[in-house]
Amino acid sequence: MTELDIQQKQQDSPNKTYQVLARKYRSETFDDLIGQEELVKTLKNAITTGRIAHAYIFTGVRGIGKTSTARILARALNCLGPDGKNTSPTTKPCGVCANCKSIKEDRNIDVLEMDAASNTGIDDIRELIEGVQYKPTNARYKVYIIDEVHMLSKQAFNALLKTLEEPPEYVKFIFATTDIRKIPITILSRCQRFELSRVEVPVLFEHFKKIASLENAKITDDALQLIARSAGGSVRDGLSILDQVITNSKEIGEVDSKTLSKMLGLADREKTYEIFNAIVSGDTTSTLQKFDEIYNLGTDPLLFLSDLMEITHNITKVKVIPNLLNTLPITEIEKQHITENANKISLSILNQIWQMLVKGFYEISSMDKTFEATEMLLIRISHTSTSLPDLKTIIDKINNSNINLSENKNNITNSETQKAEQSISSNSFIKEEPKNYDTNIKATDSSKEEEKKAKEEFIKKTLATSTNDILKSVLNAFPDANIKQKKEE
Ligand SMILES: [Zn+2]
Repeated sequence: MTELDIQQKQQDSPNKTYQVLARKYRSETFDDLIGQEELVKTLKNAITTGRIAHAYIFTGVRGIGKTSTARILARALNCLGPDGKNTSPTTKPCGVCANCKSIKEDRNIDVLEMDAASNTGIDDIRELIEGVQYKPTNARYKVYIIDEVHMLSKQAFNALLKTLEEPPEYVKFIFATTDIRKIPITILSRCQRFELSRVEVPVLFEHFKKIASLENAKITDDALQLIARSAGGSVRDGLSILDQVITNSKEIGEVDSKTLSKMLGLADREKTYEIFNAIVSGDTTSTLQKFDEIYNLGTDPLLFLSDLMEITHNITKVKVIPNLLNTLPITEIEKQHITENANKISLSILNQIWQMLVKGFYEISSMDKTFEATEMLLIRISHTSTSLPDLKTIIDKINNSNINLSENKNNITNSETQKAEQSISSNSFIKEEPKNYDTNIKATDSSKEEEKKAKEEFIKKTLATSTNDILKSVLNAFPDANIKQKKEE
């Protein structure tokens, strides 16, 4: 049981009046549902046109409003209106009539809810639906809500199927599941299916900001962004984190992203960018030092790697489509980091980093020595990202060299050679320049065709040789790394 669970249990305990946020701010109407506009539109349409299906199935990750939607639908079907005179379902359940109230308080005898995760057997289903043949007592419709319906046993599904085949007019089924693949096709084919989407980070951010303000909690926007990102698209998961933060904020005053990171075992975002920058500039010492620092502050290596993956992913997206920058749910400072990196790192390097992170994450998640394994992974990425030749840089260099070529074709140049050598030993993949540059340029003539051929030849050669050259100079610059590399071989 996590610390969060324990806190929630404490908050749930009856001798405290505290109510967890997820319950306190549960959606009451269709318009309250966060980030499910399509679903809401379709359901409202069905209600206004009177085309309400016999059975619905809501699917999607946990905590995105499946059971909340089911309960709102149950109320919409049965609402009597504030004056008690409403005779048909409504898209705006009033919340004050006898039916709305009793459904909300889970005491309406015509609206039955079952959690199939703890009631999987055929007897549970029989007990639930035994009253199907009797008309509803107070409500317009008998509504059966079954949460986590995929957990039902085969026999239970069969029992349910009989009722689903020919349900009485006054019966509606609403199923919710996180795993649609486990539902028999015979059941699925009798339901109208809705996929609830993960809630977008900006939507979650606004929602949490509103709640934090209603709760008089002092949480900075940066910290709220972090909560929204950590929620994984789930309103409920985000609210659980917010619960924890609000409880702690009473002791420590304002919560910023640094305090929050520490609380959640997440790496401080700024620090993660520092590490990312150290990795891509091949500064292994700084990389390991900074990783050690955040680890000692309580950062979980896997969460840290997941952050690095997210950063790499964002930089790559912005590199390919610069306009995407403004759609990213990140702070202005982060946008600056992303832009700088997208401008200086080549697509092939980003791709390499991504692949190594994905592979490393997968391996490390099944290991005990996560700290050591993450260190090894960082060393590996740092070396690879600085030892790969970057094709675009090479071509740019050649193209720029044309000015020298036409002006002064026989006089290239010791300084060029020196520059190339310097930049190789400076160990930055951004600036690298191949060693055999000058000899190739000399071999060309002013004729454009030959120049082009020479260029192609040169690129081919450079690609073949520069990896080794650069790797050698990197290893020379880092004797320790050299030893490790040999050992690995
Ligand atoms: Zn009502």
